[in-house]
Amino acid sequence: MPTIAQILQTAPIPRNETRLLLQHITGYTASQLITRDREPLPKDQADQLHRLIARRSAGEPIAYLIGTREFYGRAFVVSPAVLIPRPETEHLLEAALQRLPENGVLWDLGTGSGIIAVSAKCERPDARVFASDISAEALAVAQQNAAAWCAPVSFAQGAWFAANQVFRLPQHSVHIIASNPPYIEADDPHLQQGDLRYEPPAALTDFADGLAHIRHIAQHAPAYLRRHGWLLLEHGYDQGQAVRDILARFGFCQIETQQDWAGLDRVTLGRVEAA
Ligand code: GLN
Repeated sequence: MPTIAQILQTAPIPRNETRLLLQHITGYTASQLITRDREPLPKDQADQLHRLIARRSAGEPIAYLIGTREFYGRAFVVSPAVLIPRPETEHLLEAALQRLPENGVLWDLGTGSGIIAVSAKCERPDARVFASDISAEALAVAQQNAAAWCAPVSFAQGAWFAANQVFRLPQHSVHIIASNPPYIEADDPHLQQGDLRYEPPAALTDFADGLAHIRHIAQHAPAYLRRHGWLLLEHGYDQGQAVRDILARFGFCQIETQQDWAGLDRVTLGRVEAA
């Protein structure tokens, strides 16, 4: 029987991916996997590993194979019903947390796996956090993550602001609206590549010019935001100018675009009224 070390050397996928699959199968932590790498892998676990490696080699994302992905230092359950959390989105979270006042109200629009809402509630237990999604399957994943992290978040199903039929938030009562909406253009070739082929298309693209949902959110957010409240939107690296123009058209001020860790335009924010 091959040892963990031998498997890591010979597996036909990148070593860090084999490590993640092995951790998933053995239940070992990353450091246990290192200290126990002379152990042979029992046959049933080796068989399971081979099946997962075959699926990975065929293109399935690692996050769906192991059912989790880390975001902002916490493990989140993911399934093919939700977008796989991206490190870029940590920037959206941080920009939102920086602007959230004490006992503030935050609405994560299109929450997916719940990463923004659950992380915000964990970081800022004083906040009232609302999270909505059009997909019932996604909401079930988000609710599972909120329960796992003991984060009391209010959830509702609905397309964008229609979820307020459930929340019944009064007009102009929200301090921060944060959203990572589907912003990829319908004909972007990336949709046919890599992990994106396995992710829910409606979480990635608006099936139009990439800006349709951003326009809708920017148009309707001011009715829900408080005076001096902020709208924060994640978007594509080449959409900064277009999103700034949209926010300006709908009356936002203090509009700015921030870059992600790779130096690419990633988050644009605007305020309902200058402070
Ligand atoms: N950041 C993702 C990507 O480009 C897209 C996520 C989204 O559309 N919200 O792969």
